[in-house]
Amino acid sequence: MTYYQLEKLSERLYRIIEIGDVCCYLVVGENKACLLDTGCGYGNLKEYVETITDKPVFVILTHGHHDHMGAAALFDEVYMNHDDMPVFKEFGVMQRRLQDAREHEKTKHFTSKDLIPTRESEIKDIRDGEEFDLGGITIKMIQVKGHTPGIMCPLLVEDRSIIFGDACGVSVLLFDKYSSNVSEYKNSLLKLKQYEEKYDRIYRNHGTFWSPKELLDNVIECCDLVLEGKDDHQPTMIHGFELFAAKSINEFGRIDKKQGNIMYAMEKAR
Ligand SMILES: [Zn+2]
Repeated sequence: MTYYQLEKLSERLYRIIEIGDVCCYLVVGENKACLLDTGCGYGNLKEYVETITDKPVFVILTHGHHDHMGAAALFDEVYMNHDDMPVFKEFGVMQRRLQDAREHEKTKHFTSKDLIPTRESEIKDIRDGEEFDLGGITIKMIQVKGHTPGIMCPLLVEDRSIIFGDACGVSVLLFDKYSSNVSEYKNSLLKLKQYEEKYDRIYRNHGTFWSPKELLDNVIECCDLVLEGKDDHQPTMIHGFELFAAKSINEFGRIDKKQGNIMYAMEKAR
């Protein structure tokens, strides 16, 4: 079974797409490499990464959800903002990870043996603004609380790119007890906007894996509309949660064809 597909995005940046159609990113510097997220944990991601680079590899998890931390147990050195530890613990329960795998066509036959066990050893904390120098490329971590409390966007400084991941995208979920309400999330986005001049490309972990730069303004606009009670408020069920889309969607995305939307639980609309 082939678990991964590889795309080279720039001299220092690779995208690794796992069979469940979630991707992670590998940044290769002159001295070391950093894997940003680890997918759902369906294959031996460590061995695969070693076919791409011979530099020592450490891992940064953008947040604690199962489709980002799945293969973290394979690596020696792993970082994640500790604000997301409760999320990591809850979403790391094997039965829950397996249930998610079985919802996808390509992995619906999986048993727990097909998943890398959830990491139990140390995860080092990272804080907002922390930088990692890999040699010729620096990763600056920006906390964008909203989807989860500790979620971070890695800014690849010299590459002039940023990974928004699940923090800001075409369908940001503000859905469970760990998610922020819309006004707190909007403040996080306004903080993220301060970095807008530092990047030209936005990458994500799902769907088309990238977005145009106007994405951020479009999601901020969605927040404003929800807070003013003027959004489309379209009911939508996602992962068993009754949510509302700020802008009306069909199977292809926003009906007005713009990118950027939030799917929020009613109690987050404040
Ligand atoms: Zn997530």
